[in-house]
Amino acid sequence: MYPDLKNKVAVVTGASSGLGKAIAQRFAKEGIKVVVNYLTEEDKPEIMIEEIKAKGGEASKIQGDVSQEHDVKKIIDFAIDTYGTLDIMVNNAGIQAEIPTEELSLESWNKVISTNLTGCFLGSREAIKYMLDHKIKGTVINMSSVHQEIPWPHFAHYAASKGGIKLLTETLALEYAPNGIRVNNIAPGAIDTPINAEKFTDPEAKKAVLDLIPMGYIGKPEEIAACVAWLASSEASYVTGMTLFADGGMTQYPSFQSGKG
Ligand code: NAD
Repeated sequence: MYPDLKNKVAVVTGASSGLGKAIAQRFAKEGIKVVVNYLTEEDKPEIMIEEIKAKGGEASKIQGDVSQEHDVKKIIDFAIDTYGTLDIMVNNAGIQAEIPTEELSLESWNKVISTNLTGCFLGSREAIKYMLDHKIKGTVINMSSVHQEIPWPHFAHYAASKGGIKLLTETLALEYAPNGIRVNNIAPGAIDTPINAEKFTDPEAKKAVLDLIPMGYIGKPEEIAACVAWLASSEASYVTGMTLFADGGMTQYPSFQSGKG
């Protein structure tokens, strides 16, 4: 737990499921006032918010599509109107779809790029603009992936979006370091969330993923939320422009694990 996080205000995008939900729940436990952004299925964040409030936490929900400039402004304005400020922006919303590149339509390409990469740009820009105007030494955390590093056939749009997030994060970190605004990136490996639900119900596909993880298990959303909480806290006060890989060793060349090579 990080006492300095108590009473801070955070926005978490795509927070009605998976990693975003775990981050919102962890933030609420830390005493952060959390704005839960969701795209569809209003009842899911509603249930989570009721649970958070029952435990003495504070959270509110706002619908919005992170790829749309107007919606992102609406989400940030909602946080400020509801809780009076904004200290932490987590650009978590993301999508993926398996499509061989020769069949990848411009529409599918644009959908993934505009949600994953443009969504991070818009969320970062709006949060940073507010922090600058109000001299807030806030922090932005973007949700990337091991695929900012590992090429992924059939997921060219996804890998390109995550590679873009890496340099977006590094550039913003450099640009706003003099203002005390930290911008960092989390790169999860394979985590047990709805984005992987179909793959993990197929035992063969699940084993193929497990074979790529030196630590031998699929990560839990709470393990990523713990990284986000640390990056948001003052314990990470000198950390900016970094990618924190939380991947059970997936990026450490697992095929060399048995001493081969
Ligand atoms: P998820 O599908 O549970 O969560 C994604 C969330 O984003 C959903 O709640 C969805 O409604 C929301 N969303 C989608 N498009 C949106 C839009 N346009 N505007 C607002 N919200 C939108 O999956 P997850 O695993 O929790 O994914 C969260 C993030 O983590 C994504 O950026 C994903 O790329 C990244 N990630 C996940 C894994 C993993 O193994 N689960 C690994 C690496 C990176």
